Amino acid sequence: MTRHILYHELSDMREDVRAFLDRPKAILIGGEFVEKASGGTFTSEDPGLETALAEVPAAEQAEVDAAVDAARSAFEGEWAKMVPAGRAGCMFKLADLIYQNLDQLAQLEGLDTGKPAHIAAALDIPFAAEVFKYYGGWATKVRGSTLDLALNPEQFHVYTRAEPVGVVAGVIPWNYPFAQAAFKIAPALAAGCTVILKPAEQTPLTALRLAELVVEAGFPAGTVNVLTGFGHTAGAALAAHHGVDKLTFTGSTDVGRLIAEASAKSNLKRLTLELGGKSPVIIFADADMDKAIPAAAAAIFGNSGQVCNAGSRLFVEASAYDRVIEGVAEIGKGMQLGCAMNAGSELGPLMSATQLQRVSSMVEEAQRAGVTVVSGGSQGGDKGYFFEPTVLTDMDPASSIATDEIFGPVLCAMTFNDDDDIVAAANDTNFGLAASIWTGNPGRAHRVAHAVKAGAVWVNAFGVFDPNLPFGGYKESGWGREFGIEGLNAFLETKAVSMHIGA
Ligand code: ADP
Ligand code: MG
Repeated sequence: MTRHILYHELSDMREDVRAFLDRPKAILIGGEFVEKASGGTFTSEDPGLETALAEVPAAEQAEVDAAVDAARSAFEGEWAKMVPAGRAGCMFKLADLIYQNLDQLAQLEGLDTGKPAHIAAALDIPFAAEVFKYYGGWATKVRGSTLDLALNPEQFHVYTRAEPVGVVAGVIPWNYPFAQAAFKIAPALAAGCTVILKPAEQTPLTALRLAELVVEAGFPAGTVNVLTGFGHTAGAALAAHHGVDKLTFTGSTDVGRLIAEASAKSNLKRLTLELGGKSPVIIFADADMDKAIPAAAAAIFGNSGQVCNAGSRLFVEASAYDRVIEGVAEIGKGMQLGCAMNAGSELGPLMSATQLQRVSSMVEEAQRAGVTVVSGGSQGGDKGYFFEPTVLTDMDPASSIATDEIFGPVLCAMTFNDDDDIVAAANDTNFGLAASIWTGNPGRAHRVAHAVKAGAVWVNAFGVFDPNLPFGGYKESGWGREFGIEGLNAFLETKAVSMHIGA
């Protein structure tokens, strides 16, 4: 039986969204809007209706070169001349403009990604604005230190300076396009860097709207440049560019490796890499099940599972297993799938036909290997890339369904017996992005939190994100951290100045 899907009508579209979609799309290079690019144009699609939304410029090497030049000029020129308080002012202005355009941005984001626009309006867009405000605050607080040498302190006066790393490229994925743009741009600007943003080819629209807001906010030309284009052309050109000093990336582990290779083969540009995950949600029998069960469902079904930190492996202590699995499956069955502009939609479609194909075939392969489908398991609806919230049990923990990132609403549920057992199982992965632990025993919560190899551990909670909270991965989940002072430091170089003062 195919599920009932809430589709939207194009008449549900806001006037200002329609107007944006109707006008020619332009990339932003050195303060100029450029409609023509070397690669011609490509189409952005609404994954809910499988219809074209807009044609956007396909930037390639020539536009990358021009954007890098523009970013270099701004880095050495107007942006460098602007005092930190002025830079902060531009960032605060941009945050205000994002709030002023919140509903337009949310609907545009919904249309481009498929996610419910009301969720984008409540979460994605305001969070992006808050990240600009948060890092706008840091722009006036960058500092070095003075220190004493260990061996001959009386001979030298020594201080460090925290200097911007230079021209930054931000390459981002399609799951949270607008928020990811803020995650890349805001800390770089706070550090005094200039930026070239390349959104994912599947979701270029809110980045192009952001480009307009950047200009309105009064940033000097070239401080922020926005290039829409493909990964293997524009993305690869940025990764290999000698004029890019730092690249900050969120996406797949495979592309992360390509970027690391490109950095190694070019100028050893600095890298921040936020990559894949297969994050465990661990529920002990003494957990508050009224909270743990809905959280475990939200952890994997939220954003249709297209989240790098999705709680895609659920481990439940044996005595509570049946109850939790049944509870999560029931929530999945009750979730309303639908298109972005339908207010009743709780879950959107997957991003693309490619993603739907990938998720379906992974589930089918698991079924052939004997995995039990407790709920969901198939495509939903006859239009759009919808996939049902799915709960799987009885898998081999070493099989691909249990170890590979699925990037869909597909949960692999397993059981465990004691603390040692669960730590070993949770850590038996090449990833290490996040983990969620549910227990009424605080001592155990901390012991397991310390033993789990993950950059973020949430106790009796899932998905705690905050501009001041460092986030990033262990192992193949990435390099470095975003957010907080760690996220700022990722865009600063330390210069140590030693001056001889001895007689
Ligand atoms: P997904 O596989 O989920 O689409 P990717 O990791 O492929 O995620 O994409 C994330 C971002 O990386 C996108 O902006 C994409 O265009 C870009 N990208 C893809 N391939 C490359 C590459 N070889 N070099 C640089 N960027 C790339
Ligand atoms: Mg799209």
